[in-house]
Amino acid sequence: MDIPRIFNITESAHRIHNPFTPEKLAALGVALRLEPGTRVLDLGSGSGEMLCTWARDHGITGFGIDMSQLFTEQAKRRAEELGVADRVTFIHGDASGFASDEKVGVAACVGATWIGGGVAGTIELLARSLRTGGIILIGEPYWRQLPPTEDVARGCLANAISDFLLLPELLASFGRLGYDVVEMVLTDQDGWDRYEAAQWLTMRRWLEANPNDEFARDVRATLTSAPERYAAYTREYLGWGVFALMPR
Ligand code: SAH
Repeated sequence: MDIPRIFNITESAHRIHNPFTPEKLAALGVALRLEPGTRVLDLGSGSGEMLCTWARDHGITGFGIDMSQLFTEQAKRRAEELGVADRVTFIHGDASGFASDEKVGVAACVGATWIGGGVAGTIELLARSLRTGGIILIGEPYWRQLPPTEDVARGCLANAISDFLLLPELLASFGRLGYDVVEMVLTDQDGWDRYEAAQWLTMRRWLEANPNDEFARDVRATLTSAPERYAAYTREYLGWGVFALMPR
């Protein structure tokens, strides 16, 4: 069981697999006013940066589950590196349908809402693990400006304009699901650059090390087109943020 191999190649050097910088991740941890000992569940925990740094900075305990074997190994190494391996656990597995027996103070899915079949389904899934008074975190893209055509949406690697909402609409949609939005931290174009542009050097180095790999042609084609595509579309049209929710 694993995610499509292309992500394990292009994002192998990422600590944060999202358009969030370490500063934004830290700002979110502070914004949530985390108490030491708070249990945090993270579905699609990637390379574990959120749980590991929050364990170090706020004394939380964490449980993360992710379908990438590579990212999960990186998460475990990161926990050792930051001296928090006794406080965070990372499991390689499919998080679809996962609910924790012991209720948590923060239940998160940051940039992987397909795990619950979309934003609404993921909120419902996370709510099953949440203790009374707990906070749900959803990381999700939104349109900074509405793409004028479906082609522009596809240029942002969306399937369609309807994949995402404008920010006010996204915030309103949380309300319609019965949740207060109690905090949010949004990324900016510099954050997007760290996520997207960092993949280019990784791809270039990978191509040099793996010229005969069956994936080399795909990676070469992606690297050739990525900077221009990204600058024309994603960087201009797509926003991203983490939204903190509490049931009304
Ligand atoms: N939250 C992390 C990773 C976001 S990228 C961060 O912010 O860094 C999306 C993650 O979802 C990837 O790590 C990918 O491996 C993981 N993923 C995709 N499908 C999954 C599934 N069904 N179950 C668990 N993890 C999944």
